[in-house]
Amino acid sequence: KPRLVEDEDGGVIFLSSSYSSSSSGYGYVSIEKQRQRLPVYKYRTAILYLVESYATTIVVGETGSGKTTQIPQFLKEAGWADSGRVIACTQPRRLAVQAVASRVAEEMGVKLGEEVGYTIRFEDISNPDLTRIKFLTDGVLLREMMDDPLLTKYSVIMVDEAHERSISTDIVLGLLKKIQKRRPELRLIISSATIEAKSMSNFFLSSKRRQALEGEELRPRLEPAILSVEGRGFNVQIHYVEDPVRDYVQAAVSTVLLINDKEPPGDILVFLTGQDDIDAAIKLLTEEARSNGKNSSGLIILPLYSGLTRAEQDLIFSPTPKGKRKVVISTNIAETSLTLEGIVYVVDSGFSKQRFYNPISDIENLVVAPISKASARQRAGRAGRLRPGMCYRLYTEEYFLNEMSVQGIPEIQRSNLVSCVIQLKALGIDNILGFDWPASPSPESMIRALEVLFSLGVLDDDAKLTSPVGFQVAEIPLEPMIAKMILSSNELGCSDEIITIAAVLSIQSIWFSARGAQKELDEAKLRFAAAEGDHVTFLNIYKGFLQSGRSSKWCHKNFINYHAMKKVMEIREQLKRIALRLGIVLKSCETEMQLVRKAVTAGFFANACRLEAYSHGGMYKTIRGSQEVYIHPSSVLFRVNPKCVIYHSLVSTDRQYMRNVISIDPSWLTEVAPHFYQQQRHNPTIH
Ligand code: ADP
Ligand code: MG
Repeated sequence: KPRLVEDEDGGVIFLSSSYSSSSSGYGYVSIEKQRQRLPVYKYRTAILYLVESYATTIVVGETGSGKTTQIPQFLKEAGWADSGRVIACTQPRRLAVQAVASRVAEEMGVKLGEEVGYTIRFEDISNPDLTRIKFLTDGVLLREMMDDPLLTKYSVIMVDEAHERSISTDIVLGLLKKIQKRRPELRLIISSATIEAKSMSNFFLSSKRRQALEGEELRPRLEPAILSVEGRGFNVQIHYVEDPVRDYVQAAVSTVLLINDKEPPGDILVFLTGQDDIDAAIKLLTEEARSNGKNSSGLIILPLYSGLTRAEQDLIFSPTPKGKRKVVISTNIAETSLTLEGIVYVVDSGFSKQRFYNPISDIENLVVAPISKASARQRAGRAGRLRPGMCYRLYTEEYFLNEMSVQGIPEIQRSNLVSCVIQLKALGIDNILGFDWPASPSPESMIRALEVLFSLGVLDDDAKLTSPVGFQVAEIPLEPMIAKMILSSNELGCSDEIITIAAVLSIQSIWFSARGAQKELDEAKLRFAAAEGDHVTFLNIYKGFLQSGRSSKWCHKNFINYHAMKKVMEIREQLKRIALRLGIVLKSCETEMQLVRKAVTAGFFANACRLEAYSHGGMYKTIRGSQEVYIHPSSVLFRVNPKCVIYHSLVSTDRQYMRNVISIDPSWLTEVAPHFYQQQRHNPTIH
């Protein structure tokens, strides 16, 4: 039985109990038994008591203790989803939303999309009449607030993975705190894998409320309760490399082979950073395992990153057959969002892909950057679920102790805030600098965002949303620059083309990743390449795909990812519906590609770059910030180097590379964004 222990500080309640660690949840045990073995099961009564009595409950528990899959079910069993109400559980990552929802549906023995459903951007597998437990990304919850600012259909909202401090999680937390004042019956659960609960608790307990509480008996109690689920993971032995490694992909592969040779059975989880290095590692590992001979024939090598198909996801979770060893090569997603059973060995590269934004140069990119100590500990912990495990860190102990930062920086402090600002504005939050943030963004980033939004015509001189453009841009569930591009295409008469482009840009890549077949891939690209650039190339591919009768064979032949193309079609349909709602009727410009390029410029003028005449090797500089950038080798304009281009995004490795590039006429810039490109910059009023 859990005991309630009053914390000396008063107001905060800890729960503790010892529990016997679960053994493997594998195979032949009934689902009910598996549920009962999870650490949170012992806290069922306590959790329900706290949710009943406190407006906010913070649940801290190690990854795999059952927070995400069990707590929503406990709530439902206790009646929180009765009389048409819904229990929501948010996740920062879409793949986690899908995986967890399908697991919970399976545990409850119901069809996914009925009693248990999920919603991620462009995919709604829920039913407004039937769904009682709904998993969704925090971004989607934000969108829902635009239609229903008080989120009235939800009785309990569980903000999961709060330790990740994603930008949407932080915005959601700030807004929920507001909503709670208006809806005292709403319950919040904030769950997190690390013990940073105190600061979260303080966030929800503002000083005013603290005073109001003194001596008063309030129902529900307003100070947050903290519950820590004590899981007893097994010991994990940590190994470090002696000297820094030069190539972590190669080092990871060698380590996996070494484990496979020397260590007893048990699955291996490798942390790399993204699809590119994961695919590279898989290729390398497959080759080396093959040449390594018989010992390696038992390896089942699987990738884990967002954008996997359902079938690929299922493989990750399916039990490893006897005599085999699973090697899952994953992004950060397996750090806390998803629990894989059977992992005994972890290989940690020490890196992850992180967003970084520099408000001075106005450049945001995804960078492969060192993780924090907190992340390193989480990663190691994944090895100790089944039995004592081992973690191989591909960095030195000295580095871990002396150089790694203790905690990561919240995403809101290292992101471009354009999307964030427009969403808050659309929710009627005008005083953005004064908004109650769990962690404040920098004023410079805020000013940059306001400036871009002003230039896009989304905000007026008083920093209020313009009508209709501002409201329309806010309504489109895509970044504001894409939304603006779509709206402009309506005026220019090329909305049919632009919607296709928007759909392609919202997925990772439509090319089949072709390690070792780079030449064939490049040849395939040439077949579709348009002189104008990548955006127009996408239109050629889309046309070809339609003409082939949406054939998977055709995709295969042309190195195009069939699943990605199907996704493009789906997203395109949804965008078409949204466009119709905004009064945009699709119109094609036929062969007038200049109109398409102008529409792209109208949205992405801030990303304009000029070729530096005196340089070799295709060096560009951003027109606004004079930052050095280069065209990415994957672009059809690589080595073509037009005078003036606009990029969709930047990736940074040894240099800043522009991905998805289109050539433009520089005179269009002052045409579409006079304020942005004038000498005298106009500063919008900041409230
Ligand atoms: P937490 O949220 O505390 O990290 P979860 O509720 O996600 O824990 O996981 C609890 C258990 O459910 C784990 O043992 C995990 O392996 C299992 N589980 C979660 N999702 C799936 C899935 N899609 N397939 C199979 N097992 C799953
Ligand atoms: Mg979880």
